[in-house]
Amino acid sequence: MIKGLYVHVPFCNNPCHYCDFAKARFNYGLAVRYLDELERELEGIGQDSFETIYIGGGTPTALPHELLERLLKMLSRFSFAQEYTIEINPESFDLDKALLMQKYGINRASIGIQSFNEGLLNEMGRSHSNLDTINAMYYLDKAGIKNRSIDLMYGFRSQTMEMLENDLQTAVNMDITHISIYELEVHPDTILGMKGYQLADDEIRYQMYCRIRDFLNEHSYRQYEVSNFCLAHHESRHNMIYWHYEDYYGAGLAASGKIGNERYDNTRNFIEYLKGNHRDSVVRLGREDLRFEAIMMGLRLIEGINIAKYDERYSCQMLKHYRKAIEKNVSEGLLEVSDGYLRTTSDGMLVLNDILVDFMSWL
Ligand code: SF4
Repeated sequence: MIKGLYVHVPFCNNPCHYCDFAKARFNYGLAVRYLDELERELEGIGQDSFETIYIGGGTPTALPHELLERLLKMLSRFSFAQEYTIEINPESFDLDKALLMQKYGINRASIGIQSFNEGLLNEMGRSHSNLDTINAMYYLDKAGIKNRSIDLMYGFRSQTMEMLENDLQTAVNMDITHISIYELEVHPDTILGMKGYQLADDEIRYQMYCRIRDFLNEHSYRQYEVSNFCLAHHESRHNMIYWHYEDYYGAGLAASGKIGNERYDNTRNFIEYLKGNHRDSVVRLGREDLRFEAIMMGLRLIEGINIAKYDERYSCQMLKHYRKAIEKNVSEGLLEVSDGYLRTTSDGMLVLNDILVDFMSWL
């Protein structure tokens, strides 16, 4: 069974300066055509029930009320067992949209906040204020959507440790169950990239990451993945499907899916998508690809990878198969093997890409 369904809504009100996601400025006519085509793509999905559904973007709430309702109605043919999440942005959210979400059974909201410092929000190119965030929380209260995650960011040059701590303190004072906090990356085709923006120094970003980890863990938000923290039992179940390397459908512009030993990526090209040419590529994963990708995803989790389950699922003995990479990284304090799990240590989380290179090169 395919466990998750991801649906992409590629519209935003304004492009954020750091963003390289597949999106376009909202345009009514384009959004109608997009939903027509998305509906066609969804009709091709041969399964009606999932554990989780996730509507992401872009900004799903950039859709006006009637188009958001059309999207939710279209998705109502799918049922979910555990979690139905939608991403919202405070500036494009109101009580009517919150009540619509309630009507269609959405039980989790992921709110794009990024910071509570309005100067920094301005530098990011975000178009909401703290008042918009307070209102968004109020609308979610009214709709009874209690399972809420927020996104924060760090690594901006103008961001001081004090500003970051204020963001963390404000976050833990809110009525939220989950916090995702991402380090800024500057991609060449973003506004920051085109301006030649320089990140904060490596040492400062390292100190910020450590502070985030300590602060949130001290305030009951347990780290369970490189960038994700939650109150007990509030992990993102949808994202856990990715990290456990389970199967999922992705629908919409630039969405990806994994079904058995095939991974696909939809096109990022609007024109091609609207013509019905949804797929950009389909990759057939060989036995070694599956084994490696399961390691790559599982090592992001603090709990790590259950060795017995891995061995059974991939018909190999992980500790023997990857012996060199595991021994080297265990001896350097970056990985550990205990209680039947292979997991990344807190130092290892900082150099996860380097660890994965060892797994790739030493087979
Ligand atoms: S960060 Fe989110 S809201 Fe901002 S442009 Fe990217 S997708 Fe849109």
